[in-house]
Parts: sequence; C-alpha cells; structure tokens
Amino acid sequence: MTARIHLQPEAIGMGMTSQRVRDRLIERLRGNGISDERVLNALRAVPRHLFVDEALATRAYEDTALPIGHGQTISQPWVVAKMTQTLLDAPTQPRRVLEIGTGSGYQAAILAALGLEVFTVERIGELLRVARKRFRTLGFNIRTKHDDGRIGWPELAPFDAIIVTAAAPALVDALTEQLAPGGTLVAPVGASSGQSLVRLRKDADGTIDETQLVPVVFVPLLPGMVD
Ligand code: SAH
Repeated sequence: MTARIHLQPEAIGMGMTSQRVRDRLIERLRGNGISDERVLNALRAVPRHLFVDEALATRAYEDTALPIGHGQTISQPWVVAKMTQTLLDAPTQPRRVLEIGTGSGYQAAILAALGLEVFTVERIGELLRVARKRFRTLGFNIRTKHDDGRIGWPELAPFDAIIVTAAAPALVDALTEQLAPGGTLVAPVGASSGQSLVRLRKDADGTIDETQLVPVVFVPLLPGMVD
C-alpha cells in the first residue's frame, strides 16, 4: 500500500542528505522500538531534508525536532514514526486520516507514502502554502485546509484515524467525535511542562479507551488562524 514518490535528482540528496544517511536514521529508529516495517520504509522513502529550510538540510537526518519558522517545529523523526506506528497498529487498517497541524508537511507526507488518504489542517497560512508546494513537487495528493484544526473537518468526517501534532491541555471533543468507530486517535496532551502522547481508540460500538504512551514535547495547539 505504498504510493509512488517523484524524486528529482536534487531531491535524492548527497552527503549529509544522502540515502546512506537516511538509512542510518532508520536503523536508529529500529533500535528505539519502531518495529513496523511499513513505517520504517515510509521514513526511508520520504526525504526529510526537503521539509526544512536549506540551511538546516544537513541536520535533517538527526533524530531531533527542527525549527520551520513562525515559532513552529518539524517533529522529531522518532515521534513521527511512533505516532504513525500507533495509527497503523489497529484491528482494521485505516484508510482516511485527518492530521491537525500540517507544519512542514512531513508527517502528512509519511502518511501519504503509506498509501493513506490524507487530510491536513493548519492555522498558519504561510506554513500551509509552503507545505502544499512540497506536496505538489513530490507528487503527493494530500487535501489541505487553512483553519483552526480544533474544529476538525466535520464535512469530511468520520476519519479512520486522527493525528494531532500540537499539544492541548486535554483531548479535543470535536476531534474525538469525528473519529469513526474502530478508529484510533493519537495526540500529545498536557501543559508544556509535561505532555504525554495519548492514544484513544473507539470501539465498533462507540466505547472509548484512552492510553498514555510516552512523554513528548510539542508546540501548543493554538486558537484561531493567521495568514
Ligand atoms: N506535523 C508537523 C508538525 C508541525 S508543529 C510536521 O510534520 O512538520 C505543529 C503545527 O501545528 C504548527 O505548524 C502549528 O501552526 C500547528 N497548529 C497549532 N495549533 C493549530 C490549530 N488549532 N489548528 C491547526 N494547526 C495548528
């Protein structure tokens, strides 16, 4: 269930952005508990250096978050892998996924590379414009919306999976409501002083089960929209 990614020669990378350096990151993720080969393959296939500023490209395959402007960050590869693995580790495989917090577009691209139908919402217009350009260049068909993601995407709900990539003090009810029965939602929850990754599963009969997975650090989920 992998999508085809269009790579121009410069996108393949060289030196610190080469496939060899990418492969080293994959081995590191494997050593840190990422065991889903589909997820590892997606991270191997999507060039993270194309989702950061050129000046930071040489650091793209370090396992760290990096600044993307507007006070925001592209998440750490391990966190991207962990959240993606959590969504795929479900009794029924998800098909349609909603992401809140497009940012650089990297997490959305990883989901699309897995063959999922991706819908992503971002509140900062400028970040979304850059992310859309990246999706076009790489040939990803990802639907985007410039909006406050706390309202989700009700017109297109329900979603088989929902991934929130900015932290709120509690899970957002509107998003839980837009999760299909049998679906999984993953989100960082808590104050900046102590957040954890929370997995919410909704049973076929609508029963909800919440589990705290690991401590994480995310930028906050903010209200409203900006250009
Ligand atoms: N998934 C991103 C991570 C970006 S950081 C990536 O792979 O790069 C979190 C993003 O969430 C930021 O771009 C921030 O602007 C956005 N965000 C914060 N609050 C939001 C909200 N209410 N609705 C939509 N996006 C939001």
